[in-house]
Amino acid sequence: MTSVGEKKPETATHLEVDVAVIGTGFAGLYALYKARKELGLRAHAFDDAEGVGGTWYWNRYPGARSDTEVTAYCYSFDRELFDAWKWTAKYPRQSEILAYLNLFADRYDLRRDITFGTHVDSVTWNDETSRWELRTDKGHHVTAQFVIEGVGLLSSTNLPTFPGQEKFKGEIYHTARWPHEEVSFAGKRVGIIGTGSSGVQCITEIAPECGHLTVFQRTPQYIVPAVHGPRDPKILESINADYEGYWESVLRSVTAFGFEESSVIGEGMSPEERDDIFDRQWNSGGGFQFMFATFSDVGTSLETNQAATDFIKRKIKAIVRDRETAAKLTPSDLYAKRPVCCDGYYETYNRDNVELVDVEAHPLVEITENGIRTNEHEYELDMLIFATGFDAVTGNYLKIDHRGRGGVELRTKWANRPLTHLGLMAAGFPNLFMIFGPMGPFTNQPPAHEAQVNWAADAIQHVREHHLEAIEPTQHAEDRWIATCDEIAYATLFPKVNSWINGANIPGKPITVMFYMAGMGAYMDQLRAAVKSGYADFTLLGPVPAG
Ligand SMILES: Cc1cc2nc3c(=O)[nH]c(=O)nc-3n(C[C@H](O)[C@H](O)[C@H](O)COP(=O)(O)OP(=O)(O)OC[C@H]3O[C@@H](n4cnc5c(N)ncnc54)[C@H](O)[C@@H]3O)c2cc1C
Repeated sequence: MTSVGEKKPETATHLEVDVAVIGTGFAGLYALYKARKELGLRAHAFDDAEGVGGTWYWNRYPGARSDTEVTAYCYSFDRELFDAWKWTAKYPRQSEILAYLNLFADRYDLRRDITFGTHVDSVTWNDETSRWELRTDKGHHVTAQFVIEGVGLLSSTNLPTFPGQEKFKGEIYHTARWPHEEVSFAGKRVGIIGTGSSGVQCITEIAPECGHLTVFQRTPQYIVPAVHGPRDPKILESINADYEGYWESVLRSVTAFGFEESSVIGEGMSPEERDDIFDRQWNSGGGFQFMFATFSDVGTSLETNQAATDFIKRKIKAIVRDRETAAKLTPSDLYAKRPVCCDGYYETYNRDNVELVDVEAHPLVEITENGIRTNEHEYELDMLIFATGFDAVTGNYLKIDHRGRGGVELRTKWANRPLTHLGLMAAGFPNLFMIFGPMGPFTNQPPAHEAQVNWAADAIQHVREHHLEAIEPTQHAEDRWIATCDEIAYATLFPKVNSWINGANIPGKPITVMFYMAGMGAYMDQLRAAVKSGYADFTLLGPVPAG
């Protein structure tokens, strides 16, 4: 048996650590840092990517950038890093976020405890030893007391299989598996399937370069401008004046996006007054801002929601010159998906080289040697881009064969819907922490990652300080959490609309509530209450009897 530090992970087949980490995006890197540097534990991480970054390693498509303003899309715990790293823009590009995460890994020398290009296939609890056993596709066998999974909310790529796909003679790409080499669009006939967040960014960015761009749209989205630009020096000044206070306010807010959320109720207000507020936000930009900085009830009141959708519909009509294209771009459902923002998206359809195909009205029949055939027409293409998104929230958890206490399978436990306590742990799966797991908060992610990893680290410390073996939520606590999440979600409009938020984008996936929708502040209260009660909602397992 070897332990990390004695033998290089590349050659080790058996590693024994205190904490095994899966994933090296924002969450996994922080978990590795925390376990090693702050808890002083032996820790090792795996990622199937060949480098750190997670989302920002994989999503290299043109136009990829964050839609959280970067002052809240970074680590908060490291003030020196916050001051030292000079972001060039409000919504930085993928390459810049990736560079930041690489710097973070270097700053804390994290790479020596990461094995890249390696997929964790199974995570199995050994009842006799009270240890997890992980197996990878490269033959590693890892024994760990604790596992922290940062496998990504939007990471399990939805790779579609359209009939005839293998016949296509041109180039094929997926936005979330974009090659590292430059891709040229010049003069090419490009087709893109999907108009979610990635599709919208990619379409807007590549349209000027393509010879011709055909967008295959299933469901139109409400897109508001990002109003991209440099970071606002006034915001930076105010953060610098009260750094701790700023991050506290982020964690107290609903969205954790770092902007001031509205407490104004739109319901009952005159349409003119409401439009004024929507107009101001349209001009200052941001998707979550349009939903949460305008009124407090866009996500809960049908009246305010309709006011928002009417406003955006009028914008589409005003921007898109061709009546038929404008009609195809106009959604008919509520504004209750994860909000999307992008500058110049609707304007892109005024270009002569861009065409929109409604595949809801004219279904895609097959991919041919030369392009895409719908039930109406064959579109000849040199390149095909899938912007078909992710098997979100649960996808990567269910790809791993998790077996908990008594051999219970996570896939069985979650067959009808994902079940967790606090979006962090699951009954029957001791010492396993899921960062941004299902039924976690619906927020900007990095501050929530930090809060959840900090909570997990405290729980680990509690177990170790009290000479215990394991911590696991009770079934009762989990049932209560699920009921709470459902109750809150059904008080909003989000379950009324099909999207990845509730699993509706993946055929056959259970359509269900997958988030705690009460906001970051309320979520933080729940995390704190769990600790303050002395982990009353958890079973704390004592040492394994000797012999
Ligand atoms: C284009 C794009 C833009 C986004 N913009 C924003 C934004 O502005 N604001 C926001 O809050 N969120 C945004 N997101 C969501 C984004 O995923 C998170 O903000 C954040 O980067 C997630 O970090 P993470 O560490 O949780 O997971 P990820 O960054 O997804 O990393 C997970 C890693 O785990 C690896 N992994 C998974 N399973 C295994 C396994 N079994 N074995 C080994 N490795 C495994 C994956 O390959 C991946 O590298 C965006 C997502 C995309 C795709």
